[in-house]
Amino acid sequence: EKQAALATAPSDADAPTIFDKIINKEIPSNVVYEDDKVFAFRDINPQAPTHILIIPKVKDGLTGLSKAEERHFEILGCLLYTAKLIAKQEGLDDGFRVVINDGPKGCQSVYHIHVHLLGGRQMNWPPG
Ligand code: ADP
Repeated sequence: EKQAALATAPSDADAPTIFDKIINKEIPSNVVYEDDKVFAFRDINPQAPTHILIIPKVKDGLTGLSKAEERHFEILGCLLYTAKLIAKQEGLDDGFRVVINDGPKGCQSVYHIHVHLLGGRQMNWPPG
Protein backbone atom coordinates (compact mmCIF):
# COMPACT_ATOMS: atom_id res chain seq x y z
CA GLU A 1 0.00 0.00 0.00
CA LYS A 2 2.88 2.29 0.80
CA GLN A 3 4.29 1.88 -2.71
CA ALA A 4 0.90 2.69 -4.19
CA ALA A 5 0.56 5.81 -2.03
CA LEU A 6 3.98 7.05 -3.08
CA ALA A 7 3.22 6.34 -6.72
CA THR A 8 0.02 8.38 -6.66
CA ALA A 9 1.42 11.32 -4.67
CA PRO A 10 2.87 13.16 -7.69
CA SER A 11 -0.52 13.29 -9.40
CA ASP A 12 -2.06 15.15 -6.43
CA ALA A 13 -2.05 18.50 -8.15
CA ASP A 14 -2.64 20.56 -5.01
CA ALA A 15 -0.24 18.81 -2.65
CA PRO A 16 2.27 21.35 -1.37
CA THR A 17 5.95 20.77 -2.02
CA ILE A 18 9.11 22.23 -0.58
CA PHE A 19 8.91 24.92 -3.27
CA ASP A 20 5.82 26.44 -1.59
CA LYS A 21 7.90 26.98 1.54
CA ILE A 22 10.67 28.51 -0.55
CA ILE A 23 8.21 30.91 -2.24
CA ASN A 24 6.75 31.84 1.15
CA LYS A 25 10.29 32.24 2.52
CA GLU A 26 9.64 29.75 5.30
CA ILE A 27 12.74 28.01 3.91
CA PRO A 28 15.57 30.34 2.94
CA SER A 29 16.81 30.37 -0.63
CA ASN A 30 19.15 32.41 -2.74
CA VAL A 31 16.61 34.42 -4.74
CA VAL A 32 17.72 35.74 -8.12
CA TYR A 33 14.41 36.98 -9.54
CA GLU A 34 10.87 37.54 -8.32
CA ASP A 35 7.76 39.16 -9.75
CA ASP A 36 4.03 38.68 -9.20
CA LYS A 37 3.91 35.36 -11.11
CA VAL A 38 7.42 33.90 -11.12
CA PHE A 39 10.06 33.06 -8.51
CA ALA A 40 13.66 32.04 -9.24
CA PHE A 41 16.37 30.83 -6.88
CA ARG A 42 19.71 29.04 -6.95
CA ASP A 43 19.61 25.25 -6.86
CA ILE A 44 20.91 23.88 -3.56
CA ASN A 45 22.78 21.11 -5.41
CA PRO A 46 24.19 22.93 -8.45
CA GLN A 47 25.08 20.90 -11.53
CA ALA A 48 26.87 23.83 -13.19
CA PRO A 49 28.44 27.12 -12.04
CA THR A 50 25.05 28.73 -12.68
CA HIS A 51 22.08 26.52 -11.76
CA ILE A 52 18.83 28.35 -11.14
CA LEU A 53 15.27 27.05 -10.77
CA ILE A 54 12.42 29.13 -12.21
CA ILE A 55 8.96 28.32 -10.89
CA PRO A 56 5.41 29.69 -10.93
CA LYS A 57 4.33 31.21 -7.60
CA VAL A 58 0.93 29.53 -8.02
CA LYS A 59 1.11 25.91 -9.10
CA ASP A 60 -2.51 25.74 -10.35
CA GLY A 61 -2.27 21.99 -10.99
CA LEU A 62 0.99 22.31 -12.89
CA THR A 63 2.88 19.61 -11.02
CA GLY A 64 4.86 18.99 -14.18
CA LEU A 65 4.85 19.85 -17.88
CA SER A 66 2.83 16.72 -18.65
CA LYS A 67 -0.08 18.27 -16.72
CA ALA A 68 -0.15 21.48 -18.79
CA GLU A 69 -3.53 22.73 -20.03
CA GLU A 70 -4.48 25.67 -22.21
CA ARG A 71 -4.96 27.85 -19.11
CA HIS A 72 -1.22 27.47 -18.44
CA PHE A 73 -0.06 28.97 -21.78
CA GLU A 74 0.76 32.34 -20.20
CA ILE A 75 2.70 31.03 -17.21
CA LEU A 76 4.63 28.58 -19.41
CA GLY A 77 5.70 31.49 -21.59
CA CYS A 78 6.60 33.55 -18.51
CA LEU A 79 8.84 30.77 -17.15
CA LEU A 80 10.81 30.47 -20.38
CA TYR A 81 11.04 34.21 -20.92
CA THR A 82 12.27 34.64 -17.34
CA ALA A 83 14.94 32.00 -18.03
CA LYS A 84 16.16 34.18 -20.90
CA LEU A 85 16.22 37.31 -18.72
CA ILE A 86 18.15 35.56 -15.95
CA ALA A 87 20.61 34.04 -18.43
CA LYS A 88 21.37 37.59 -19.56
CA GLN A 89 21.59 38.82 -15.94
CA GLU A 90 24.01 35.98 -15.15
CA GLY A 91 26.20 36.84 -18.15
CA LEU A 92 25.63 33.52 -19.94
CA ASP A 93 26.27 35.17 -23.29
CA ASP A 94 28.01 32.15 -24.85
CA GLY A 95 25.13 29.81 -24.20
CA PHE A 96 23.17 27.98 -21.56
CA ARG A 97 20.69 25.15 -21.19
CA VAL A 98 17.11 24.97 -19.93
CA VAL A 99 15.69 21.65 -18.73
CA ILE A 100 12.28 20.54 -17.51
CA ASN A 101 12.35 17.09 -15.95
CA ASP A 102 8.98 15.34 -16.08
CA GLY A 103 7.86 12.29 -14.17
CA PRO A 104 9.85 9.33 -12.89
CA LYS A 105 11.61 8.62 -16.17
CA GLY A 106 12.48 12.30 -16.53
CA CYS A 107 14.05 12.21 -13.05
CA GLN A 108 11.59 14.75 -11.63
CA SER A 109 11.75 14.85 -7.83
CA VAL A 110 9.73 17.96 -6.91
CA TYR A 111 6.15 18.03 -8.25
CA HIS A 112 5.82 21.79 -8.76
CA ILE A 113 6.84 22.59 -12.33
CA HIS A 114 10.30 24.15 -12.58
CA VAL A 115 12.66 25.18 -15.33
CA HIS A 116 16.32 24.46 -14.64
CA LEU A 117 18.67 27.13 -16.07
CA LEU A 118 22.20 25.78 -16.32
CA GLY A 119 25.30 27.56 -17.54
CA GLY A 120 28.86 28.66 -16.94
CA ARG A 121 30.44 25.52 -18.36
CA GLN A 122 30.40 23.52 -21.61
CA MET A 123 27.24 21.39 -21.72
CA ASN A 124 27.31 17.94 -23.25
CA TRP A 125 24.84 16.08 -25.42
CA PRO A 126 23.17 13.65 -25.05
CA PRO A 127 22.26 14.30 -21.40
CA GLY A 128 22.35 11.36 -18.99
P1 ADP B 1 16.15 16.27 -9.66
O1 ADP B 1 16.12 16.28 -8.15
O2 ADP B 1 16.34 14.89 -10.26
O3 ADP B 1 17.06 17.30 -10.27
P2 ADP B 1 13.89 17.94 -10.33
O4 ADP B 1 13.94 18.29 -11.78
O5 ADP B 1 12.54 17.74 -9.71
O6 ADP B 1 14.69 16.64 -10.08
O7 ADP B 1 14.68 19.09 -9.58
C1 ADP B 1 14.46 19.47 -8.27
C2 ADP B 1 15.61 20.39 -7.91
O8 ADP B 1 15.30 21.07 -6.70
C3 ADP B 1 16.94 19.67 -7.69
O9 ADP B 1 17.89 20.14 -8.61
C4 ADP B 1 17.29 19.99 -6.24
O10 ADP B 1 18.67 20.17 -6.04
C5 ADP B 1 16.51 21.27 -6.02
N1 ADP B 1 16.18 21.57 -4.64
C6 ADP B 1 15.58 20.77 -3.74
N2 ADP B 1 15.44 21.38 -2.56
C7 ADP B 1 15.96 22.62 -2.71
C8 ADP B 1 16.10 23.75 -1.84
N3 ADP B 1 15.69 23.73 -0.57
N4 ADP B 1 16.69 24.86 -2.34
C9 ADP B 1 17.12 24.90 -3.60
N5 ADP B 1 16.99 23.89 -4.48
C10 ADP B 1 16.42 22.75 -4.04
